[in-house]
Amino acid sequence: MALNREAFTITKYDLQVQLEPDQQRLGVRGKITLRNDSALAEKVVALQISSSLNWRSVRADGKPLQFVSQPYVSDIDHTGGLSEAIVALPVEIKPKDSVIVEIGYEGLIALDATRLTRVGVPEGVAKHTSWDQMSPTFTAVRGAGYVAWYPITTEAADFSEGNSLFEVADRWKAREAGSEFKARLNLTGAGGDRPAVLLCGASGSGSTDFGRDWSLTSDCGWTALGTVAPTFVTADYVALSKPPLSLFSLAGHEAGATTYANALEPAMKFVSGWFGKPSAPIAVADFADANSAPFESGTLLMASMAAADSKLAGINLVHELVHSAMPSSRPWVYEGLAHFAEALYRQDQGGRQAALDFLGIHRSAFVDSEKEVAVSTGKDAGQPLAGTFDETYYRSKAAYVWWMLRDMVGDVALKQAIGNYRAEEDRDPKYVEKLVEAAAKRDLGWFFDDWVYRDRGLPDFRVQSVHPWQTEKGVQIVTVTLENRGDAGAEIPFRVIFAGGEIMTRLEVRARSTATTRVETPSVATQIVVNDGSVPEVDLTNNAYTIPAVTK
Ligand SMILES: [Zn+2]
Repeated sequence: MALNREAFTITKYDLQVQLEPDQQRLGVRGKITLRNDSALAEKVVALQISSSLNWRSVRADGKPLQFVSQPYVSDIDHTGGLSEAIVALPVEIKPKDSVIVEIGYEGLIALDATRLTRVGVPEGVAKHTSWDQMSPTFTAVRGAGYVAWYPITTEAADFSEGNSLFEVADRWKAREAGSEFKARLNLTGAGGDRPAVLLCGASGSGSTDFGRDWSLTSDCGWTALGTVAPTFVTADYVALSKPPLSLFSLAGHEAGATTYANALEPAMKFVSGWFGKPSAPIAVADFADANSAPFESGTLLMASMAAADSKLAGINLVHELVHSAMPSSRPWVYEGLAHFAEALYRQDQGGRQAALDFLGIHRSAFVDSEKEVAVSTGKDAGQPLAGTFDETYYRSKAAYVWWMLRDMVGDVALKQAIGNYRAEEDRDPKYVEKLVEAAAKRDLGWFFDDWVYRDRGLPDFRVQSVHPWQTEKGVQIVTVTLENRGDAGAEIPFRVIFAGGEIMTRLEVRARSTATTRVETPSVATQIVVNDGSVPEVDLTNNAYTIPAVTK
């Protein structure tokens, strides 16, 4: 029978991790709980770790289990491969049953961009994305999707095959979202030259000295992983604690670290006003290579502090502080609100257009995949926001959804809904809708259906017709009919431009529908422009309409 590599979900990790950055070496002992999520009883499990690590032992109830170790090509790991242990379980595991397995493995984690370079990405560029490594001076290693430094159970992922890598990685995250993860990291050595900080997640290290010998220990854990990819970092950081923020910067980056420290207070004030007071710890850690792509996992942000960019520091802190104030197990709420808050902060500092420009960058992340949904025939194709583990959706599309909600119901009502949100009460998929509806006293079922519970692609607005006319008293009126050719409805803003000015107004246009409204203008209207950029559309080129001059 064919091996079903995704039959088992690892529902619990309890790992002891020994790190030796000088040797680039990692050794792990621990226990994992495997649950059979397939429909059939299973006797064999394929446990996978990075191809640069080697399996040492697999046991159950203290007794060694037979296993065969083999390489398995997959782009889910930075090396482009996994070390797979095909393990014979002591007994057949029935569907929904679990088994605890004791594991041991070790090996090296070096900088490796193979999965990118073999599809043609130049090495110099690839290593800025694929920056995971252990080294004597700087160690930073991300979890599943980057480096399988803890076991995973996945089918092969391939970078060259369209979206296969992301599909496999997203499926893995969805399966592990409810898993418990616990790790104790330990780093020991002798002599004076040691890293100052060992980070696992957002929690820093405790250190112990025994004469010349020393050890650094850091514990991290999540009762449910959600979108977190457990990450560890160790370097000779300068630590600055300004609760809830811990800032870890490298020598020579003092100006950048100061920029972050200075950005904290205004960011705290802003986030508190919208999301409540941030209290859970957050951490921002520096990169040795200033070109490394920033990365975020839960409440740990890795971002270079080589440059002092106060605008960037501000929005980065706003994002993490929202996580601190607003825990949620729903990715579109947890990350969507944090990205929405970045846009709000941009508006606070640079006006609405600055916020819309910022959101425009997010639109490019998901507009192409939404175009495919729009032309596909299956109604439930695509990625409903409510359950997706695809980053472009739960970050970028979700940011727009929150922004549209805010434009529809206003700041006061949305703040009230957010203020009433409790992660532990968020069990019903319609919980968020009900909170916003209660605060806004408005039915939003159609909006949540089109944007959250289903993926109906994006709307496409155009001006269907415009009739300028004049009342008997000489008042100028335009009757505007807007058409939405897409399958998702929205409340769309539009501008009526006339000699000497413009009026901005809004109109709710449901999917595959038209809606009509009248607008009074002080002088003859000349142009209608639909959408100020706050509603993501598939086509932005058909949004302006010039009103033909009336010939008498
Ligand atoms: Zn985030």
